[in-house]
Amino acid sequence: MIPQQTFPTQTVPTDIQPSATILPPTRSPDPTPTSTNAPATTPEIYASTMGSGTYTSSRYPTGNGVLSLRFDDGKPRDYSFIYTQLTVRSLIAGFAIIRDRINTSISLTLAQLKIMQTAGMEIMCHTYSHRSDPTGLSEFARETALAVEEMRMMGLNVDSWVQPGPWTGDYFTMMRSGTTFFGTPEDNIMRNYFKAWEGYRLNTDRVLPITGDNRYGAWHYLGDERSLVDLKALVDSCITNQKGLEILFHSNNIGAVGKISEADFASFLDYVQTKVIAGTLTVLTPTQQLFAVPFTK
Ligand SMILES: [Zn+2]
Repeated sequence: MIPQQTFPTQTVPTDIQPSATILPPTRSPDPTPTSTNAPATTPEIYASTMGSGTYTSSRYPTGNGVLSLRFDDGKPRDYSFIYTQLTVRSLIAGFAIIRDRINTSISLTLAQLKIMQTAGMEIMCHTYSHRSDPTGLSEFARETALAVEEMRMMGLNVDSWVQPGPWTGDYFTMMRSGTTFFGTPEDNIMRNYFKAWEGYRLNTDRVLPITGDNRYGAWHYLGDERSLVDLKALVDSCITNQKGLEILFHSNNIGAVGKISEADFASFLDYVQTKVIAGTLTVLTPTQQLFAVPFTK
């Protein structure tokens, strides 16, 4: 007689359980935004804060100009000066952050970034290392996909990527001209990891609403060296022509020799706030503008 075979009870080895280290970080509940952070005239825009995964709730009244302010490189002054200047005027903006500088002496801290994000500021990916052009696909992937994945693991809600000045190659020019970049592995990385990206393409207004491939490689103006008169004229043109406008600043340049003074920068923000209150200008974060839809007042 053959003895009945018995099988040991199987247990799931503990080493195939997901490790706590690969789980997304636990996020504490967002504090209630203070009333000063809510745009005075357009409450529906505040509802489209980052991290919702969609920008369909980002809107602007038909006939308004739409302005986005962007601050690159994540310097400590982005928090100590810019963030303060924005919040006292109920304005929001985008901040393009370099992954490997977070929590170093030349950068914002993660804690500061989370405070800014909670207040409605957009945090954008500005490469891993801000070096010169990537030499191949793996380096390109590190400066884009890896950078944003690590930022998201830190609890930052990042949707868009911003080309750094040291990239002098033609990635985005090619993309915008619809030829060589389209369909490449690099193009596929960008479209898989980001809702939009901004190339270094200067001095072009945007026709609203922005659609389709116009969200990839979008344009901006550089504000660091412009006069207050010039900056006001840009805003006026944006309103008159009902265009989209983005102005980029580097916080360390504000108040530097040959650049816009702190006082003029503050006056510029005063001017923007005046137009928002007047109901002719809508201020959105950079990615909100790219996905914003008009509504009738
Ligand atoms: Zn930069």
